[in-house]
Amino acid sequence: MTITENIQAVRQSIADACARVGRDPQTVTLIAVSKTSPVEAIIEAAAAGVQHFGENRVEEAEWKIPAVAAQRSTGVNWHMIGHIQSRKAKDVAPLFQVIHSVDTFKLAQKFSALGVERQAPLEILLEVNVSGEEAKHGFAAANWSSDSAVKDALWEQLIQLVALPGLRLRGLMTMAPIVEDAEQARPVFASLAALRQAIQESFKITLPDLSMGMTDDYPVAIEEGATLVRVGRAIFGERNK
Ligand SMILES: *Cc1c(COP(=O)(O)O)cnc(C)c1O
Repeated sequence: MTITENIQAVRQSIADACARVGRDPQTVTLIAVSKTSPVEAIIEAAAAGVQHFGENRVEEAEWKIPAVAAQRSTGVNWHMIGHIQSRKAKDVAPLFQVIHSVDTFKLAQKFSALGVERQAPLEILLEVNVSGEEAKHGFAAANWSSDSAVKDALWEQLIQLVALPGLRLRGLMTMAPIVEDAEQARPVFASLAALRQAIQESFKITLPDLSMGMTDDYPVAIEEGATLVRVGRAIFGERNK
């Protein structure tokens, strides 16, 4: 299968998942996760109509994004999806249109300051750890709906976060646990969707986006409300370790 054929297959399963739950496929944006893939592969995906790409390492993005831009000047948007060290925030901001992996208040503050400085808010999502896995980054939110201490601690940070002037908060992002069967990830996606709802109601804000779902589980994520799916291997093939 070529990259172009893979993209057609992914688009078809996005449409199928939408049809199962009565969603308009236009409400789901495909982000092709191009980490470790070469520039030519990205150019092929862009030629096949993909307009959004995800990278997870600043060092890789620093050479790859300009290299892609040199070959294709329009219609390519970059999403940062990987963990960001605080001191790298200033390098991330100018490279990416959307940052999904804002996982601490401190990092949000850094990006806000950069947004104020450049007089254009940064588009961000908050990475939330709803599964409770220890190895995962993100704002702690395991059992947020039943454990009031978890919710209170999260809300305390959100009160300060929503007031930051240099950010446009687009929504929430999560990574589901790696499981045998995608169905097992469904409660994690449902929990993120419910958390978005609760935040919107509490803070009287609109969070348009839910970034959730990868190669192994994006149809389930779409059924639970994902608006941004981050798909790597199903498009570019298995990554070399
Ligand atoms: C690598 C990665 C993806 C894509 O994973 P695939 O299994 O290749 O689809 C999605 N999100 C994040 C944060 C990633 O690091």
